[in-house]
Amino acid sequence: MPSTTPKRLEDKVAIVTGASRGIGREIALLFAREGAKLTITARSQEQLQALSDEIKALGCAEPFLCPLDVKDSEKVDELVDKTLDKYGRIDILVNNAGVTRDGLLLRMSDADWDDVLDTNLKGTFFCMRSVAKPMMRQRSGRIINMASVIGLIGNAGQANYAASKAGIIALTKSAAKELGSRNILINAIAPGFIDTEMTQVLGDEIKKSILKSIPVGVLGKPMDIAKAALFLASDESSFITGQVITVDGGMVM
Ligand code: NAP
Repeated sequence: MPSTTPKRLEDKVAIVTGASRGIGREIALLFAREGAKLTITARSQEQLQALSDEIKALGCAEPFLCPLDVKDSEKVDELVDKTLDKYGRIDILVNNAGVTRDGLLLRMSDADWDDVLDTNLKGTFFCMRSVAKPMMRQRSGRIINMASVIGLIGNAGQANYAASKAGIIALTKSAAKELGSRNILINAIAPGFIDTEMTQVLGDEIKKSILKSIPVGVLGKPMDIAKAALFLASDESSFITGQVITVDGGMVM
């Protein structure tokens, strides 16, 4: 028998950045299953196409594919314009695209600093600035920014990444104060250690020591973060803005 449970994002238009794999891919799949009309973006066209095929195979609406680099503000503006042309509105933006270029502070190159700050923080800013106009006109919107527990507590070898994620938290709170009166709610998620390609590059010893610092004793899954994003995108969080929801199995408390 078909499910009669109402879908939590029925007909909502959502842009998900960094949707080609990992956490962003899981968010896109969950949002699609909950009835959202999607624009999915990342640099890899091939992986976006594979995700689109998977979403269609689930019987959900075919997503609009828009490959781009979030460091390019003109392309980000085009993404927003094309999404408006296609769907007429934008209800939800998930700023999830992110990279790491780890290294100790003394040895960190300008290029590694810039790549992480430009992708994670500036890319988030570009996307927020671009959707803010249509959301202000609509007098509604939700923006969900992917921070990290590292942006809260710092980490040796990740000065660039920690600074970018702490910046995202400050950006989230400032924009929430600016845009709250227009019914635009802006929150951040701070994931702990989630099992994706980003963390699979870490050695077994490092993973073992990280596991010891997680009270629930397991790594997180992309779905753990997708469920938090769904909550922040749905009507259930209608009085929440400027917050950072930590989803980390108790790693930081
Ligand atoms: P991932 O598997 O490496 O995926 C990163 C995504 O970002 C990919 O879709 C990638 O697509 C996209 N991306 C990277 N650079 C981009 C750029 N310049 N322009 C457009 N898209 C770009 O990482 P993940 O673990 O799913 O992480 C997703 C987010 O969660 C990131 O912001 C990360 O910092 C955050 N986070 C992750 C963890 C964790 O433990 N995994 C913990 C805390 C926070 P392309 O390469 O195709 O462009």
